Amino acid sequence: MVRSPWSLHWHNTEAHAMLINGKCHCSNIAFELELEGDPPEIPARACGCSFCVKHGGVWTSSPNARLSVAVRDPALVSKYAFGTRTATFHVCSRCGAVPLVTSEIANRLYAVVNVNVFENVDPSRLRRVAADFEGEDVESRLARRKRNWIADVRFADARPDRPGASRHPSLNTGGEMTPSARTA
Ligand SMILES: [Zn+2]
Repeated sequence: MVRSPWSLHWHNTEAHAMLINGKCHCSNIAFELELEGDPPEIPARACGCSFCVKHGGVWTSSPNARLSVAVRDPALVSKYAFGTRTATFHVCSRCGAVPLVTSEIANRLYAVVNVNVFENVDPSRLRRVAADFEGEDVESRLARRKRNWIADVRFADARPDRPGASRHPSLNTGGEMTPSARTA
């Protein structure tokens, strides 16, 4: 079977799990999202905040999903936060895509992923809805993320969302964390 980045098909690993692959345009930031079951529709929230409008941020998440993120060159990931600064946008500084957002709540890392970087999902399965969280206070915002965001998030290399993560990929082998001034 010939596989190309343009083919639209599902990777059905097991009977009740679905694997979605996503990556930024230059492949520096890639992820694998494992969804439970075989949902006929995937919610895609087109966020109305100014950052997401400008970057094409359309997000999906599921509290039971598993997310594994692989970053080839952490030095080429720009962490951007604004407003309440409780969420970190992982922007590829080489190609400009924004594959995911993370939020650390009570020492746990939560995430949402951008459906616009999906590689193997038929767009007709995305159920696009507008979302606007303007005016939501921080407490309800964090509570909503704990309810809805992906709660099982792993980075293949160092934890780039932590202040201790190194910006030098050569120091990151084995997931070891090294001191760095870089903070999200
Ligand atoms: Zn990129």
